[in-house]
Amino acid sequence: MGSGFSLTPVLGLIPDENLNLIGGETVPALGGEWLEKLRPADGSPLCRVARSGPEDVERAVAAARAAQPEWAARTPVERGEILRELALLLRDRREEASAIVAEETGKAEELALGETDAAVEMGLFVAGEGRRSYGRTMTASMKHRTVLTLRQPLGTAALIMSFNTPLPNVAWKAFPSAFCGNASVVKPSEHTPASASFFATLALEAGVPPGVLNVVHGLGTEAGAALVEHPGVDLVSFTGSAETGRWIGGTAGRRLAKVCLELGGKNALVVCDDADVENATRWALASAFSNSGQRCAAASRIVVFDGVYDELRERLVAGAAALPAEPVISDAARVRILDAVEAAVEAGATLLAGGAAPEEPGFRVAPTVLEGAAPGDEISRTELFGPVTLLYRVRDLEEAIALVNDSPYGLTAAIHTASVHRAMRFAELVQAGVVVVNGGTHGSEPHMGFGGVKDSGTGWREAGIEALDVYSDWKIVNVIADPALT
Ligand code: NAD
Repeated sequence: MGSGFSLTPVLGLIPDENLNLIGGETVPALGGEWLEKLRPADGSPLCRVARSGPEDVERAVAAARAAQPEWAARTPVERGEILRELALLLRDRREEASAIVAEETGKAEELALGETDAAVEMGLFVAGEGRRSYGRTMTASMKHRTVLTLRQPLGTAALIMSFNTPLPNVAWKAFPSAFCGNASVVKPSEHTPASASFFATLALEAGVPPGVLNVVHGLGTEAGAALVEHPGVDLVSFTGSAETGRWIGGTAGRRLAKVCLELGGKNALVVCDDADVENATRWALASAFSNSGQRCAAASRIVVFDGVYDELRERLVAGAAALPAEPVISDAARVRILDAVEAAVEAGATLLAGGAAPEEPGFRVAPTVLEGAAPGDEISRTELFGPVTLLYRVRDLEEAIALVNDSPYGLTAAIHTASVHRAMRFAELVQAGVVVVNGGTHGSEPHMGFGGVKDSGTGWREAGIEALDVYSDWKIVNVIADPALT
């Protein structure tokens, strides 16, 4: 890019200024504006982030469009090999990557290390598709005619994502997008700029050509919206809230761009009266409170049969009270979550644990358990994306399934039972993209498709080989081998 402003990408630390990466060069926002990023763990300033606008998006899309044809002309095997290099580089640098994630999110380094490893695994899984990217051949009614399928890149992809697991969120999109022969413009969350920049800089080092993976930092309503509206963007792949997804779907849909939306959840974990209550409690605590509840698959509704309700409540409340108050991503998030809990209590719910911001520094919320909220109450229907879970008492499986399905969302659901019949009935009737029996409301592994129904998504699946369908088109090729014979 002829900007005249090129800085050497800095690896291994969070720079004071997080710049865009466009066409292989690090550049500030053209308007010269910055956002201030604070450390969630103690509220102190961490870095400044380029506050990009439409003119920066314009340059990034131009860089992507310029780089894409040559990248697409390479064989899938070659693209896979380069992406494997990227995954291996990330594995080599996993401690640095995780330190960056821990710093910008406030999560424990151990958790960040697990996430980095998941991002590496996603890269290795996608890279393997280079030698495994199968299509189909079909029979035809006409003699001497062969019909086969070819995967085609889409062109330029806008990849917009949330902050909660920042490296996997980038990896889940950037690897399959690049593998399929697209060039991408990543708009990471404004809350987690540094890990996305680190990933994209490693991509350059691994041999991903300049312009194939660009990063534009900034606010969703500015840089993000400009990307969604840009006519040069062929696919918008978005992971974030249903509210934002609704706007993106409408806006990109109007210009007939392909849109993949992975949205929120109000996931339920059901505990039947034949369950191992101790095990169910362990999973409920992990599902509700890990990553400070900032998981699309978090168990924010615990639905318990009458017969084991009191025992489970006692264990859950004791378990929640014993957990530390972890940071959420921003002070605004902390205030929003605590306000929602307060409003629920005013509306008649009972606070059993947490519900307060501890004295410690940072944007912390104590693990919170409420009971007595009605299924139609605001708190029962709204995703809080924080460490808050609600207890509901039900008579039987039918009532449990009706309650689980009485939600705008349908991402994941779990049931704890010793009965195969109950487990299978739940799996068949529950409105969710992922069902777990005797475990947590956990997300996917790299080789498993992940996504939801209703307000949780628009039917696409991320990860797994299903992800390739997001980032490519199928072309049906008809070959009539000998026209003289037909
Ligand atoms: P968000 O919708 O506020 O933001 C997500 C991303 O979109 C950010 O990068 C943001 O800057 C950008 N954005 C915001 N407004 C935009 C606009 N008008 N145009 C373009 N981009 C815009 O969500 P969040 O608070 O970052 O993340 C939490 C949400 O993400 C929760 O709902 C959670 O469930 C969901 N999530 C879903 C999955 C999944 O796989 N289904 C995974 C992780 C998180």
